[in-house]
Amino acid sequence: MHEVEAYGDVTRVRLWNAPSRAVGMHVSVYLVRGILVDAGFPNASAEVGALLERLKPRALMLTHWHEDHAGNAALAVSRGIPVWLDPATEEMLVKRPGLRAYRLLTWGRPAEWIAPRERFVPELEPVHTPGHSHDHQVLWDASTGTLFGGDLWLGVRAKMMHEREDPYVLVASLQRAAALAPERMFDAHRGLVKDPVKALDAKRAFWEEMLGAIETRLRAGDSVRSILRTVMGGEELTGYASLGEYSRRSVVLAVAKRVL
Ligand SMILES: [Zn+2]
Repeated sequence: MHEVEAYGDVTRVRLWNAPSRAVGMHVSVYLVRGILVDAGFPNASAEVGALLERLKPRALMLTHWHEDHAGNAALAVSRGIPVWLDPATEEMLVKRPGLRAYRLLTWGRPAEWIAPRERFVPELEPVHTPGHSHDHQVLWDASTGTLFGGDLWLGVRAKMMHEREDPYVLVASLQRAAALAPERMFDAHRGLVKDPVKALDAKRAFWEEMLGAIETRLRAGDSVRSILRTVMGGEELTGYASLGEYSRRSVVLAVAKRVL
């Protein structure tokens, strides 16, 4: 299922299916000046295939390798659409790591990667902003002050993180994106963010405070379990469903690794 929204020069296509809706999730791809930003999830491949036919993007650019963003990149390549993606993103698409059940059920597993015949010379500036994933890029359109934020922001109070990612790196990335002084931002899940500098700064402040509180509790000898309850307000449903892969617990563990 999908829904199209127009924002002047930017078209948002919001994609979801029954399993993703059940957990309140949807993801958006954007079309700007004929460039498609991200490709949606594999379980929506038939729909995305029809959209490619209808929208006829002249290029695809990817923010990161996660299956809800890069899931139909191989499909776009097979249709002869020139692609830009970071080498670190391509490495993950080639690797095709196994996904846990919650991701397979919601988004599906990307098809085998096909090396693009034609590489797109990026017309939106990729800015490396790791933290959500090591390969994460925001795509910057300086001519209109528009930032395609991928999964960098996701709301001020989103407190989950993938295991193996570093929350301190995320804080630096939020600062890097805010320094571009975007006038508007399109978040891959939350859509249009009208005052992005304020939103990015608010999230950075929220995370800095949260990380500081976790550090203090760890140094005082509190356990991860107790900090998860007191500072983080307990685990989220996704944290359990992902068996901790994408969770609040991952944030506490990452701080513990640095502090202890
Ligand atoms: Zn992601």
